[in-house]
Amino acid sequence: MHNHRKVRLNIGLMGGTFDPVHIGHLVTAEEARQQFALDYVIFVPTGVPPHKASGQVTSPEHRYLMVTLAVMSNPSFVVSRVEVDRKEPSYTVETVRHFAETEAPGANLFFITGADAILEILTWKDYAALMQLCTFIAVSRPGYSLDRLRETAGRHGPDLLQKVHLLEIPALAISSTFIRERVALGRTIKYLTPEPVEQYIQKHGLYLNKK
Ligand code: NAP
Repeated sequence: MHNHRKVRLNIGLMGGTFDPVHIGHLVTAEEARQQFALDYVIFVPTGVPPHKASGQVTSPEHRYLMVTLAVMSNPSFVVSRVEVDRKEPSYTVETVRHFAETEAPGANLFFITGADAILEILTWKDYAALMQLCTFIAVSRPGYSLDRLRETAGRHGPDLLQKVHLLEIPALAISSTFIRERVALGRTIKYLTPEPVEQYIQKHGLYLNKK
């Protein structure tokens, strides 16, 4: 009997604004990596988020660099500039298509992000095409009601529901909003985000004014 060699890579695409990235995101990516046997997790910071007014979010370059600093020590984690470099608002369907066609043809793709965001994505017109391209990992903190997500996914039939996995992450009690608020109040964020990210925030004076 021949040993079966694994031929298809499993790749996680970790989508988010990451304003800023924090340990909740890193714990999420690591948990998804293990549970779904992912070979890599590619963090994809958003450029101009389609659903947020500009000016409301820190510049893509700052957010991209903070993610780069955060994933530095994990050989399975990398960062992509694909959305950061796009001038127009980026939609998940275009991003996943980019990886499916150019950077990771033949790989099993998993799109990982917050459960609320996945609810939104599923309401966008291209969700059917998206479902052919990837599986979703919807992450939430414990206690979050997943009824709405189940209902939205279920409305499109059992096939869609099968392509949405749910992952509860206790460390997601930490949020980017929480970190921004603490910085604005002059409170410490040590251990809530990796040290190089904390230093980057300090050096560039990010989040001093509450938005
Ligand atoms: P958001 O609405 O800012 O965040 C929703 C919740 O999910 C927040 O609690 C957030 O916590 C959490 N979250 C976000 N990304 C996460 C991640 N990777 N892992 C764990 N928790 C995460 O969502 P967003 O960041 O703007 O969007 C998330 C992703 O969905 C992005 O890639 C975005 O492009 C995509 N999206 C696409 C469409 C579309 O194609 N039409 C629509 C909506 C969203 P934190 O604030 O702590 O991160």
